[in-house]
Amino acid sequence: MKYALLSILPVIAMGILSAQNPPKDAPYKNPKLPVEQRVEDLLGRMTPRERAEMLSGAGWMESRPNARLGIPAIKMADGPMGVRNWAGSSAVTNAAATPPVLSTAFPAGIGMAASWDVELVRREGQVIAQEVKALGRNMILAPTVNINRQPLWGRNFEGYGEDPYLTARMGVAYIEGVQSEKVIATVKHFAANNQEFERHRIDEKIDARTLHEIYLPAFQAAVQEAGVWAVMNAYNKVNGSYCAENFYLLSQTLQKRWGFQGFVISDWGSTYSTAATVAAGMNLEMPGGEAMRTWFAKPETQKDGNGAGWLTPEKVLAAVAAGQLKQEAVDDAARRILRVMFTAGLFEGANAPGGEVDTPEQRAVAATAAVESIVLLKNEGGLLPLGGSKIRSLVVTGPSAAIARTGGGGSSLVRPKYATRPLDGIQEAVGAPAQVAFARGVAMQGEDASRETPEARAALREEAAELARKSDAAIVMVGYSTKLESEGFDRPSMDLPEGQDELIEAVAAANKNTIVVIAAGAPVTMTKWIGRVPAVVQAWYGGQFAGPAIGEILFGMQNPSGKLPVTFPKQWSDSPAYGHYPGENLHVAYEEGVYVGYRGFDQRNVEPLFPFGHGLSYTKFDYSGLKITPAKIAAGQQVEVTIEVRNAGSRAGAEVVQLYVHDVKSSVDRPVKELKGFRRVMLDPGEARNVSFTLDKSALSFYSAAKDEWVAEPGAFEVWIGASSRDIRLKGAFELTR
Ligand code: BGC
Repeated sequence: MKYALLSILPVIAMGILSAQNPPKDAPYKNPKLPVEQRVEDLLGRMTPRERAEMLSGAGWMESRPNARLGIPAIKMADGPMGVRNWAGSSAVTNAAATPPVLSTAFPAGIGMAASWDVELVRREGQVIAQEVKALGRNMILAPTVNINRQPLWGRNFEGYGEDPYLTARMGVAYIEGVQSEKVIATVKHFAANNQEFERHRIDEKIDARTLHEIYLPAFQAAVQEAGVWAVMNAYNKVNGSYCAENFYLLSQTLQKRWGFQGFVISDWGSTYSTAATVAAGMNLEMPGGEAMRTWFAKPETQKDGNGAGWLTPEKVLAAVAAGQLKQEAVDDAARRILRVMFTAGLFEGANAPGGEVDTPEQRAVAATAAVESIVLLKNEGGLLPLGGSKIRSLVVTGPSAAIARTGGGGSSLVRPKYATRPLDGIQEAVGAPAQVAFARGVAMQGEDASRETPEARAALREEAAELARKSDAAIVMVGYSTKLESEGFDRPSMDLPEGQDELIEAVAAANKNTIVVIAAGAPVTMTKWIGRVPAVVQAWYGGQFAGPAIGEILFGMQNPSGKLPVTFPKQWSDSPAYGHYPGENLHVAYEEGVYVGYRGFDQRNVEPLFPFGHGLSYTKFDYSGLKITPAKIAAGQQVEVTIEVRNAGSRAGAEVVQLYVHDVKSSVDRPVKELKGFRRVMLDPGEARNVSFTLDKSALSFYSAAKDEWVAEPGAFEVWIGASSRDIRLKGAFELTR
């Protein structure tokens, strides 16, 4: 009681001093003064209640404004693939009554990662930020940098794949692009949101080494390299504690170890306590106000396991008064939010709408990204590109041909002003004199009950096979829908939705020139038909320009250059996470440890269907001249690696050169190889170029759980240069001396 009274006295004093209205020339209003000075000046003028008010939202996607002090609201919108309607939960925004917000639909994160084009992702971040501003918002809830731990996660399409290095490069580029426009980027979901199944309740057991080597590097890079202004905590628990109140993650790691200066925002409905949450370092609870109360009152919201309404000013003030929470923790939260607001120019009217959506620049980035995201998985006998005199008649079939499936389902799905269907993109690319026929082939599971009976299926399939029999080539567009691959639930298996395998088999039996194009955010099982079709293309969800991109790749106006950011297993049981997912009794143990993705396939010597980093081109590239200098380095020194890559074919094309490091001998078990560098190079036929990489300690280190730090052990390291993780073209070595 005595302690409680003592702790509240300065608060009372603060309240008396700060309640006067601020003068016009108050330092915090002066944009010429340093941000920290403005923050402290403003904080000093705020009453305890006003400070507490900063800690929870005013609505679905807005923080609380303060009229007395002229503090604006932070206006948010979902991403990452474009700007999404912010009017409410998806139940609200998907309802016909809600007027749509139209914005450019970019490829899903997994497709952006497949481009391995850092500069493109930076431009994407920048043009998305321009749309954020054009629509009068100032914060985007993106990028998603959670690792694809297993192929069934419903949100795999949002992230950048299975590798922490590639994910970090993409995340940093996106954030830099967004923040270059003074829009607040929000890296999410911190941390280890790797399954939708029981996402609000699941407790994940992950050892420190695995966390630091696999699940945290992209967040660390976001903080330390990109200087991200906001971090969103994940729904799940990590090692026994909800991410919103996880002291290890928020306080010890994010703030102390990485030096994060921005603010942490809760994922929508991810809070379960007041004092513990604020004390751990979670700063802004969302949603808030009436929007939160209405939403939270719904039985399904609570049934899902959401938590909300813990950081209302009343609860925060009561926790301080009761001595459960220190005023400094509340101040720290308010300070962090204000710091970002000043930095992003929110006090200088950054809220005002202006600018346009669907500018030539935004279109150009989305269209280029759609092309670069496409991965040519298989091309036997050089069937692709189609065109020339080879193909005079063509059938296009499948449930994803005559509809533009721009993205996966959930909070990332944006509504573009327009989108081109693959069928139209193909038709456009074919040109005269080829004939293009269309047959649905199979209805997308769950979209049309009348066409999903066994009889209706057989009839649709037969119609497609019949047309295929009469055509020179057949394109089968398969994949998922927003209702089958989405935030909120995981895929029940890796298999294609009902009837799609059978369609591919029937068409392949009718026409030997069958090309399968897959629109899905993660690997699908192909075992039933992969041996019977000569060409397979992975198109992910390519945003609003996926249609033309698919047409141009298939007909050779564009040369495919995408490479897989995730291993494609032959079957789900080959995945390293198999058997350790989705957990039991709300607990899941990440027992595969650091052996996620290709690291796991290498360790257990399992042959993937298509390896990480794989992707074909219509030209071919030769690698030569590996130079590693110096041959020996001491701690703290760097190694330069150079190779020459030559376009040895007859078409211009881009190659993604990949650098993997192999630690020859280590005191701990380490992955056989780890990606530590990559470069995308565009080359004309016959053109050769030197590609160089610099390796420093971070490329050689593992996270030592015993020492609680990154360690590079002296000894020999090999550098493997490849066109994929399993197509290593050059090898060399150097030594880290004692
Ligand atoms: C998602 C977040 C999203 C938020 C706001 C949550 O359900 O997990 O990624 O930003 O909703 O829509």
